[in-house]
Amino acid sequence: MQVYNAPIRDMRFVLQELIGIGDYPEIPGLEEVTPDLADAILEESGKFCTEVLLPLNATGDEEGCVLENGVVRTPKGFKEAYKAFAESGWTAMASAPEWGGQGLPESINKLVEEMSCAANLSFGLYPGLTHGAYQAIVDHASEELKQTYLPKMVEGTWSGTMCLTEAHCGTDLGLLRTRAEPQDDGSYKITGSKIFISAGEHDLTENIIHLVLARLPDAPKGVKGISLFLVPKFLPNADGTPGQRNGVTCSGIEHKMGIKASATCQMSFDEATGWLVGEPHKGMRAMFTMMNSERLSVGIQGLGAAEAAYQGAVAYAKERLQGRSLAGAKHPDKPADPIIVHPDVRRMLMTMRANVEGCRALGGWVARNLDMMKHHPDPETRKEAEDFTALMTPIVKALFTDLGFETASIGMQVYGGHGFIRDHGMEQYVRDSRISMIYEGTNGVQALDLVGRKMPAHMGRYLRAFFHPALAEIDAAIDDDRLSDLVQPLSKAFGGLQLCTAEIAQKGLRDPEEAGAAATEYLRLFGLVALGVMWLRTAKVAHAALDGECDDPEFYKAKLVTAQFYMTRILPQAAGLVAAIRSGKSAMMTLDEMAF
Ligand SMILES: Cc1cc2nc3c(=O)[nH]c(=O)nc-3n(C[C@H](O)[C@H](O)[C@H](O)COP(=O)(O)OP(=O)(O)OC[C@H]3O[C@@H](n4cnc5c(N)ncnc54)[C@H](O)[C@@H]3O)c2cc1C
Repeated sequence: MQVYNAPIRDMRFVLQELIGIGDYPEIPGLEEVTPDLADAILEESGKFCTEVLLPLNATGDEEGCVLENGVVRTPKGFKEAYKAFAESGWTAMASAPEWGGQGLPESINKLVEEMSCAANLSFGLYPGLTHGAYQAIVDHASEELKQTYLPKMVEGTWSGTMCLTEAHCGTDLGLLRTRAEPQDDGSYKITGSKIFISAGEHDLTENIIHLVLARLPDAPKGVKGISLFLVPKFLPNADGTPGQRNGVTCSGIEHKMGIKASATCQMSFDEATGWLVGEPHKGMRAMFTMMNSERLSVGIQGLGAAEAAYQGAVAYAKERLQGRSLAGAKHPDKPADPIIVHPDVRRMLMTMRANVEGCRALGGWVARNLDMMKHHPDPETRKEAEDFTALMTPIVKALFTDLGFETASIGMQVYGGHGFIRDHGMEQYVRDSRISMIYEGTNGVQALDLVGRKMPAHMGRYLRAFFHPALAEIDAAIDDDRLSDLVQPLSKAFGGLQLCTAEIAQKGLRDPEEAGAAATEYLRLFGLVALGVMWLRTAKVAHAALDGECDDPEFYKAKLVTAQFYMTRILPQAAGLVAAIRSGKSAMMTLDEMAF
């Protein structure tokens, strides 16, 4: 049986002690965001996830979605759960008050997202996509489209999708063929086929709003000729109710490895009525608003899966009796000791713990920057926050989802054979989390985004948004004896990252294949260093708490031990990555295609 209780204590630590939301009430637009309010939201969300979403996770996986007569039926209980989710205001949480939202910050929203993805990843996708579509419409659509669609999407009665992929065009969107014909009334007729569209058709909401990439008749070739259109399943009546059925249908659903309760649809657009969002041929720019928001959310999906797997593994490791401790029996009254006594099981549990808590901390740092980018009164601070977020988006997406899958797989290993069979639910976490490394731009493509776009942008300005605060964090700890065990490995890994950054920038200018060959390892190296910075910051906070009067010293002592584990058992992987990166492309690119 799957277990999940929202890790509220750790989330509170991230919000209040690590990224410090204590100053939020002084920032315009965030006046009401007090620590008490954040606590209350986390508690409520945690309750909903454990009581409503978790029980539907395994049953939803078992039952899956069914397509009948063009209509997709989600598994039993999903409709009621979604209704309760929307009625409790969760769909409106991070949306702007002018569209009916609660205007709460991303720092809290991302933690709430983590909870729903941990309890039920398939469920979490439906509102997650709607929020991404909401953001693209807010940033790029006309006032009329905003007035018609946003309030319904925010209240959760209408949902959203993103329709990019076609059978012959996945990563390379320049190949897409869906067409848009202008009409006299200012609308467009959209014709084409899309595949793999999450939430393309379902029974959770009364209308579905598709954001569709298509080409205008005069479009230039490639990505510079793509425009974005809003295409509703039902055309809204004048009073805002769903009216006539539009020419968009679901022609099939995919049978797949995981997230079976999330409908992955083949969609046919047959002269469907749509409206332009943003400017003609500038659709990729508009869609990137949604994609960037989704990329961070997909990273959070990885974190959610890792947390759920960790909780399951800890519970099992304490109760499964096998063998005796190498240090002598720990529970002589029992036929054997629980497996948590064994060093190899500890290795697995500590790795899972360090990954989960480290990613939550780094996610918090990025989320704080999202909030500053939107709300801070000082333009310079807003710009720095924007640079940092742009740089960290591919890292959060790829690192968190890689680690999410790896952590879920370790969780299965803790269960031994009982993890591989279905009863305990561990294999579902492995299956469900695997897709997050693929969709929303594969992790290989995220790495290319990091080295190809983010690294050289504005002569390295984005990089400075990380390197400067990271170095300041290290420098400030260098003379603190209590932190020296942590600072030394981090300084070394940071030096390796600086060296690789300079080398890739140089080699990549001469030969782009060199940058491409280094990209995935470079992203992992960057991610490991960023997690290291968060563990150093965590250790500082923990020491300060233990120096003062704190209610739960065990929590902070555990943070110090986990920080030490991260720096001594995980971060040393950085040296191997540096060596691999510096070895260059030749061993990778020399074989002739025919030799494979
Ligand atoms: C369950 C599920 C849900 C999805 N939901 C949606 C959705 O809601 N909306 C939507 O539009 N799409 C969706 N997708 C599609 C998803 O985003 C794509 O599958 C993904 O972007 C990769 O495209 P592809 O599958 O065509 O792979 P390809 O683009 O064919 O890539 C195959 C491999 O080649 C690599 N590759 C490709 N090009 C390059 C390059 N230039 N350099 C280096 N490596 C490269 C890739 O990294 C990958 O490893 C979904 C897919 C699935 C399976």
